[in-house]
Amino acid sequence: MSIGDVKQSLIEEMSDMDIVDTHEHLPNEAERLKQQVDFATLFSHYCRSDLVAAGMADAQYDCLVAPGLSPSEKWELFSPYYELIISGGYSRAAHLSMERFYGMSRLTSAADAEALSERIREANKPGLYRRVLKDACRISTALNFADFAGKEVDPEFFTLILFVTPFAEVASMGDLQAIEAETGACGSSLSRYVDGLAIYLEQQAKKGMKGLKLLSAYMRDLRFDPVDMATAERIFNRIASESCGMRPSVLGYEEARPLQDYLVHRLVEIAGDLGLVAVFHTGIQAGNYNNLENARPTQLWNMFRRYPRVRFNLLHGGLPFIDEAGLLAKYFPNVTIDMAWMHAGSPEISIRALRDWVDLVPRNKVLGFGGDYHVVEKVYGHLVLARENIAAALADKVEQGAMSREEARAWVRAMLWENPRALYDLAEQV
Ligand SMILES: [Zn+2]
Repeated sequence: MSIGDVKQSLIEEMSDMDIVDTHEHLPNEAERLKQQVDFATLFSHYCRSDLVAAGMADAQYDCLVAPGLSPSEKWELFSPYYELIISGGYSRAAHLSMERFYGMSRLTSAADAEALSERIREANKPGLYRRVLKDACRISTALNFADFAGKEVDPEFFTLILFVTPFAEVASMGDLQAIEAETGACGSSLSRYVDGLAIYLEQQAKKGMKGLKLLSAYMRDLRFDPVDMATAERIFNRIASESCGMRPSVLGYEEARPLQDYLVHRLVEIAGDLGLVAVFHTGIQAGNYNNLENARPTQLWNMFRRYPRVRFNLLHGGLPFIDEAGLLAKYFPNVTIDMAWMHAGSPEISIRALRDWVDLVPRNKVLGFGGDYHVVEKVYGHLVLARENIAAALADKVEQGAMSREEARAWVRAMLWENPRALYDLAEQV
């Protein structure tokens, strides 16, 4: 068998499998069907960062994805930058979806943009999620990452992971009141607040939530120091005592850091108590302009060491810090690496990462695919890229003689099915 044959046969195997999608941000179908959609819907979300990096103004992007302009008017805005981003991973995922669901492989004119918009609108009706997630992708369940507003996920398609960073980043009475209104956790003292969060999270776990997501790396570095309660409490108490009149906020972001550290430790402990996965964003942040240094996975070392019974999942394989993420999964039994978002973010880095990890970590440590999208159709294109990348890396290993064809099959099954199923304890869901 040539390397091309092995790759192709692995792609076919993956296409015939039921899988677990480890990461989405999808609205329920009823919400999606209310949205005004057009061709730009397929180039929203991650394509934004490439469009902006290519020179599109943020305000132009906002017009591109807002209702208001016609598809032809949007095409005028979009086309100069489309040419520049067309070979990137994000556009490739969009094109693969466009071809599968709407029968067009590229846009070349305003007329194409109009035609695609028409087809997307026609398909925007009940059954869309079933066609994409079940029929095209064979996703048994997708772990859907949501905040309060989106936490009632449709169990036909999704399993909930809740964003808990806002619980750790309280800085005003408004923050505390909003959290109390939703969770019942009362901010009259730090201990009551933490106890209230634990009760709320236990209720959510009983309803099927499987993990807590921390996206601190979007705002700060990932080193969470073990702060004593008295220090945290002094900061926490200032929120109420200094909130006079119409002051919007009391604590500055950096001032609040010891309190954030304290609360992240408590949230990780709660995850352990409830058997939930502590899911940390590491590596590339969505959007533009962020500080990549804040997202280095090795900064989390003290958490893995301190909480050996808590299961930690490192999102995005730490991209581009793939070696750091791999070594952490090699050191710690309680750390897994998750390729969510990676395959579209950079197909090349994904292939390289998987080639490294196959050498570096046991087979039960890598989760193979998460679409990480707001737009359902795009999940399919991303999955096709994931299959290609996984097959390319494993076929290479088979070709080198570093792995048998049977081992490659076992890796595929582990990454797309067994590992996410075991980590998130999904026996009842799938
Ligand atoms: Zn995400």
